[in-house]
Amino acid sequence: KAKGAGLGFLFYGPEMNALIAETLILENRLRQALERDEFVLYYQPKTNGASGRVTGLEALIRWNDPEGGVVQPGVFIPILEETGMILEVGAWAIRKALADMQKWRIEGIDPPRVAVNVSAIQLQQKDFVDSVRLAIKACNGEAPSVDLEITESMLMTDLDDNILRLSEIRGLGLDIAIDDFGTGYSSLGYLSKLPVNALKIDKSFIDTMAATPESMTIVSTIISLAHSLGLKVIAEGVEKEEQAKFLRLFRCNELQGYLISQPLPPDEVVGYLRDSLAS
Ligand code: C2E
Ligand code: CA
Ligand code: CA
Ligand code: CA
Repeated sequence: KAKGAGLGFLFYGPEMNALIAETLILENRLRQALERDEFVLYYQPKTNGASGRVTGLEALIRWNDPEGGVVQPGVFIPILEETGMILEVGAWAIRKALADMQKWRIEGIDPPRVAVNVSAIQLQQKDFVDSVRLAIKACNGEAPSVDLEITESMLMTDLDDNILRLSEIRGLGLDIAIDDFGTGYSSLGYLSKLPVNALKIDKSFIDTMAATPESMTIVSTIISLAHSLGLKVIAEGVEKEEQAKFLRLFRCNELQGYLISQPLPPDEVVGYLRDSLAS
């Protein structure tokens, strides 16, 4: 679908044609990327707010484009979602995370839990829970130490279906975090009904908290709200020591962001975990 296609002739012309052609080319190259195994997962550590110890890793997809280098997900996730390819790539990501963990274990490191991002479109599939069950089974049936991150904005649509699916997933031993929390429209009543384990405070609040009293209040309120509902809180996009200081003061459970580490390519994870265990 072309952006602005509904706006009539105004946007039609050579430029529009070029845009459509470019999108089609990218779409085909993404299909090839999956076949040629060009997607990779990078891993960003999360640390305990109080102790600074590594508590988990978030898997973030990249495309190793042989022609253009490493491509960030912001460029291609929307296309994967529009074309439905996200279903295959999403299933791949869960399998890949489990496979990477197995590899690290062989290299002598017992990895912490790994969180995988899940798109709205995946969760909406009737067979989503089965696909997660299969991925776990395919990995020697070992204890699932993979968690899922799902953005807040989509959780509230088809709420009853989502509650059922999320409980089944938790029944498999996975934890669930609501991603980008604070940017969607969850009502407090719904929040208490959702079978989730953690809230991830959106980076936009962390960015502005030190300079804007309102953001500071929102951050501290989300943390107390989560704790009173028995949920864990993770702050994303922590870049400055000052932000970390306030988050620790508010008893935020886990911190994640460039201050701690950038997302690491898979071959740097074992070294990072070794160093962090040693210190
Ligand atoms: P997200 O889940 O909210 O992930 C956090 C994003 O913020 C990541 O961008 C991460 O690299 C970046 N980030 C982390 N710490 C900092 C920081 O301190 N400062 C700044 N400026 N940025 C920071 P990335 O890797 O480009 O991913 C963007 C989005 O793409 C993710 O947002 C997620 O929604 C989506 N995504 C990534 N991997 C997957 C995947 O496997 N499946 C799906 N469905 N979506 C994915
Ligand atoms: Ca995420
Ligand atoms: Ca997020
Ligand atoms: Ca975010």
